[in-house]
Amino acid sequence: MSDGAVKRYDVAVIGAGMAGMAAALFAAQRGLSCIQVGSGGGILFASGLLDLLAVHPVVERRLWQSPYAALAALAREQPEHPLARVAPVAIRAAFERFVAALAGAGMAYAPLGERNSQLLTSIGTVKTTLGVPLTMVAGVAALERRPACLLVDFRGLREFSARQIAETLAQRWPDLRHQRIDFPGFEAVPEVYAVHLAQALESRETRERTIALIKPQLGDARAVGLPAVLGLARSREVHAAFEAGLGLPVFEIPTMPTSVPGLRLLGALEAAVSSLGVLRRQQTRVRALTWDGSKALLDLEGVPGGERVCASAVVLATGRFSGQGLTADRQCVRESLLSLPVQQPAARDAWHQRDFLDPAGHAINRAGLSVDDAWRPLDASGQPAWTRLFAIGSILAQQDWMRAKCGSGLAIATAWAAIAQLTQQLRGTEAG
Ligand SMILES: Cc1cc2nc3c(=O)[nH]c(=O)nc-3n(C[C@H](O)[C@H](O)[C@H](O)COP(=O)(O)OP(=O)(O)OC[C@H]3O[C@@H](n4cnc5c(N)ncnc54)[C@H](O)[C@@H]3O)c2cc1C
Repeated sequence: MSDGAVKRYDVAVIGAGMAGMAAALFAAQRGLSCIQVGSGGGILFASGLLDLLAVHPVVERRLWQSPYAALAALAREQPEHPLARVAPVAIRAAFERFVAALAGAGMAYAPLGERNSQLLTSIGTVKTTLGVPLTMVAGVAALERRPACLLVDFRGLREFSARQIAETLAQRWPDLRHQRIDFPGFEAVPEVYAVHLAQALESRETRERTIALIKPQLGDARAVGLPAVLGLARSREVHAAFEAGLGLPVFEIPTMPTSVPGLRLLGALEAAVSSLGVLRRQQTRVRALTWDGSKALLDLEGVPGGERVCASAVVLATGRFSGQGLTADRQCVRESLLSLPVQQPAARDAWHQRDFLDPAGHAINRAGLSVDDAWRPLDASGQPAWTRLFAIGSILAQQDWMRAKCGSGLAIATAWAAIAQLTQQLRGTEAG
């Protein structure tokens, strides 16, 4: 569609983090034409695990086995939390669609159940999450049953120490052994990087040489854990080759950011939205957004000579401080693009608790945009800033996704709910 020289879309999604990606995906799946502007956001730093809700209340650090039971408690006790404002049936549908799209783009997840899983982290702690990539899923059973297990790491891979994990867990998991090996072809290199190892393991020869080095170390092991380096785009194939070659369940453990699973997730999401016809403007930002009657005009920067596009609806998924959707100065927190009012403490000295590690978290981490029941951010008069402007993901107020372990859940659920409302407005259909 075009409007004079300016291209017109049903939806413009501003932001390409988890929330922006989910919004672009759900909009395109509903048959809406969509442009997405922005670069990868926090996905690059993510572990590949999809958290729905693991901790509630944050101040008690209470861990939940069922994210849906946690959501029910959240809805009772903190109904203003954005996740509490999305119906569980919609959250289930959103997660199912999201992981199906990822599987179609080469990053498969274990079937989503009703319960969270627990997995090892690279520092020997335990992470509670809902969505587990297939390359990591054998680690869930291993952690639960704690059989004899071999953890392998690679000389020079500084971000992952099998020994540290085994020593941290020695009391709880006495049959966890560790072994360091030289990565084939990198023997003379003092420091190696996860992404280079992942690329190298896509070669069959390197895979076979690596498996041949691990095999003599197996002993009585019933499972093998490795840093998450089993391939980039072809991780399923590489993982399957390790399981076949070692004759045991093999699981990846996510490494520190920037992690290989984060790269895989970003690649799969980019492929999924592109295959549905979403036009992506990466390494670009929206400089200005204005309304002209029934359409929004977006000025993009970073394109030689600039570019203007127009859209019938806009989704603001610009994130918090790291994504630069919010900025803070000595006085207050501001929304960067439209100067929308930000719900925040009245004074700066109320931003943080005295103790940095205070279990309640800090008020600054719950600052963000207020939205109406249709996910439209409110202006200073408490009315929707524009009829067809929607806000989703971590820019929303009343949540602390890091402490509640609900990053992906918040992004995916609010994207689903907002796209349902937006579709209803554009087409006059029921939201759902
Ligand atoms: C270190 C780390 C680890 C994580 N681990 C997990 C995990 O294990 N499990 C989990 O579920 N979640 C995890 N997450 C969270 C998750 O990946 C998301 O970062 C989080 O949900 C926030 O997503 P978002 O899309 O709201 O914001 P962001 O990811 O911050 O994305 C905001 C986007 O908006 C863009 N933007 C801002 N302003 C403009 C503009 N004017 N024009 C165009 N674009 C703009 C930014 O470039 C960026 O693309 C992790 C995040 C981090 C940082």
